[in-house]
Amino acid sequence: MPLKESEAIVLRTFPLGEGDRLVSFLDRQSGRLRGVARGARLPKSRFGSTLELLSYIRIWYFERESRELVRINQCELIESFLDLQKDYQAGIFLALMSEITEAVLGEREAADPQFRLLLLAARAIRTNGPAPAILAYFSLWTVRLGGWLGSLDHCAQCGKALHGEPAYTVPGSSRVSCEDCRDNAGRTMKPISQVALSVGGGALSGTLERLLKENPSLSGSSEILSYALDILEHHMERKLVSRQMLVMGKSE
Ligand SMILES: [Zn+2]
Repeated sequence: MPLKESEAIVLRTFPLGEGDRLVSFLDRQSGRLRGVARGARLPKSRFGSTLELLSYIRIWYFERESRELVRINQCELIESFLDLQKDYQAGIFLALMSEITEAVLGEREAADPQFRLLLLAARAIRTNGPAPAILAYFSLWTVRLGGWLGSLDHCAQCGKALHGEPAYTVPGSSRVSCEDCRDNAGRTMKPISQVALSVGGGALSGTLERLLKENPSLSGSSEILSYALDILEHHMERKLVSRQMLVMGKSE
């Protein structure tokens, strides 16, 4: 039973038994795992405050082939995001990012890009506050990493460039259609604004830092965020619990 050492991000924890914790975490090398931290809820626990939401930690654990759960031996804090939770909206952002990551990643599937995305977004919330553009960036990239993203600048049906054209979507689908194809489809499609598509384009073609420097529209960010969250919910076949708690500005 070898001891493994890795970097990880804590996704969620649950009380277990008398004083233990069940920990869901994203191991940088091995992907999403669950393990037991014995005595983590007892006073003076050796885990201290390492097991908080989105804590970036170094972790040591034992893996047993016959068991689904690993046994967490030790954790060391590399970076904490506990301070961000003082802000209600920032706390919801972290909870939503953790919930999405947990839902889209299969257990033990290597997911280094998602690991880096999660860390990048959490750090950006610390630097910039809970800007909807950060969550939009995180969600769109999670959709892309999942392989579910369509084109935001061309009609999914006829291929026409959508620049400056009215565009439409079906909630939950990544397909964006032009006006003509919307009529042909004869379904209930919702308009999506050019501003939202341009925030989305910016998020997918550049860095998060650049996106935030451009001071993206609040309503456009919220709209493209909804588009991405609808796609994620469609693929996970359930609603995101933390999404209901988001307070989104409807106007600029
Ligand atoms: Zn079309």
